[in-house]
Amino acid sequence: MLKKTIQTLEQFKSSSSSTRTRDHVHMKWNNPFNNWVRNIRSTTQNDTNTTTSYPVSRETTTSYSVPRERVDCVVIGAGVVGIAVARALALKGREVIVIESAPSFGTGTSSRNSEVVHAGIYYPHHSLKAIFCVKGREMLYEYCAKHDIPHEQTGKLIVATRSSEIPKLSVILNHGIQNGVDGLKMMDGVDAMKMEPELQCVKAILSPLSGIVDSHSLMLSLVGEAENHGATFTYNSTVIGGHMEGNEICLHVSETKSLKEWNGKSSLQPELVLIPKLVVNSAGLSALALAKRFTGLENKVIPPAYYARGCYFTLSNTKASPFRHLIYPIPEDGGLGVHVTLDLNGQVKFGPDVEWIDGVDDISSFQNKFDYSVQANRAEKFYPEIRKYYPNLKDGSLEPGYSGIRPKLSGPCQSPVDFVIQGEDIHGVPGLINLFGIESPGLTSSLAIADFISTKFL
Ligand SMILES: Cc1cc2nc3c(=O)[nH]c(=O)nc-3n(C[C@H](O)[C@H](O)[C@H](O)COP(=O)(O)OP(=O)(O)OC[C@H]3O[C@@H](n4cnc5c(N)ncnc54)[C@H](O)[C@@H]3O)c2cc1C
Repeated sequence: MLKKTIQTLEQFKSSSSSTRTRDHVHMKWNNPFNNWVRNIRSTTQNDTNTTTSYPVSRETTTSYSVPRERVDCVVIGAGVVGIAVARALALKGREVIVIESAPSFGTGTSSRNSEVVHAGIYYPHHSLKAIFCVKGREMLYEYCAKHDIPHEQTGKLIVATRSSEIPKLSVILNHGIQNGVDGLKMMDGVDAMKMEPELQCVKAILSPLSGIVDSHSLMLSLVGEAENHGATFTYNSTVIGGHMEGNEICLHVSETKSLKEWNGKSSLQPELVLIPKLVVNSAGLSALALAKRFTGLENKVIPPAYYARGCYFTLSNTKASPFRHLIYPIPEDGGLGVHVTLDLNGQVKFGPDVEWIDGVDDISSFQNKFDYSVQANRAEKFYPEIRKYYPNLKDGSLEPGYSGIRPKLSGPCQSPVDFVIQGEDIHGVPGLINLFGIESPGLTSSLAIADFISTKFL
């Protein structure tokens, strides 16, 4: 999937797509620092053209002089959520700069997921996950239909493979009904197995509203729309921290390549300071560690970070997919269970499992240093899990695929924590919105989260 993103982006960079009409955006690829500052500056409302001294980070009081710019809105991070927020703000007539540390958009968790459009079944009633997932799913299908984004409402079966799991299935069904998910139906195993002859189960919930989406096409379309409404995406640029001056946030920005040699010990010196009216911290896996680098934001409002890797294996040696629906087992601690996902090219993948990652400190999280490798021997655990509902899975048919990492706010054996969206009412910093713990169903919820932010905080 990552390869696909990169391919798409290579085409994107070299194309003269009608959605990318702003020359300065093209100039930002691989440009030297002077161009980089000039390009950011050329998009700002009010070129103050001044330099000043200020504390460079939480951990030091050294002063340093750099150019400063007043801007309207800054979105940190061009994952699907940041992009959707940028589009929503731009559609409301706001001037938006998106600062992305990678060379292109959507290279983080947004390109390392199942690409499932979730119906909104699992999440506690009234939770942000439930509300945004249900609304986001409706918005997403509508957006995909309107903008020709490849997607398919495949439907999904959540299956109990032994009778002891049936009570859990009933709880899931009740959650779904409470959350307002239409069309859910409890089925006897024999009926579900008639629909899916390779399936083995004793009972199942049919969720007809679940589906899949091509997340890369979605992001490409949202970026194009945001740009056409004046948003500017600045790649290879990292927000390294911030501080307050009176009621104003000063964001510290550097070229990403300047951080390459950083050992985490010395203080980081910004190359540009942006003074926005509104900042949306949508830095995904790095959002918490980045928030800790904002002087003026109290540590007590920043929840603890946990990370859980999810690996996928693809099904090889099979001409046709054994399933037409997405097949999900009963959820496990930290995830939705090793499920069957289909992609729009007909490839079948299994996953993600849950592997809690220890020892990720704030420095590696801030630098986005995560291990995405998939160990082939993890397949040993996949076979028995999958065979509970797909007994005909052949030995040797699983090949290592890719992995993603969940930005979690609760650890192993703890109750799942909801999405956290913090504004001034929670942390006291005017104009700062923190998005924490945007794990699944963040892709499905992205348009609803963006709508919420552009409505509540403007
Ligand atoms: C294994 C797995 C499976 C999933 N499956 C599904 C699914 O099927 N359906 C669903 O709805 N959701 C799913 N999700 C959740 C979904 O993928 C995420 O919620 C969503 O992609 C989060 O998007 P984001 O924009 O918040 O974060 P990201 O995509 O991680 O984007 C954050 C961006 O911020 C940038 N960044 C970080 N730090 C800085 C900085 N200091 N300065 C500038 N830029 C910075 C990063 O480079 C990155 O591009 C899954 C997640 C995982 C891990």
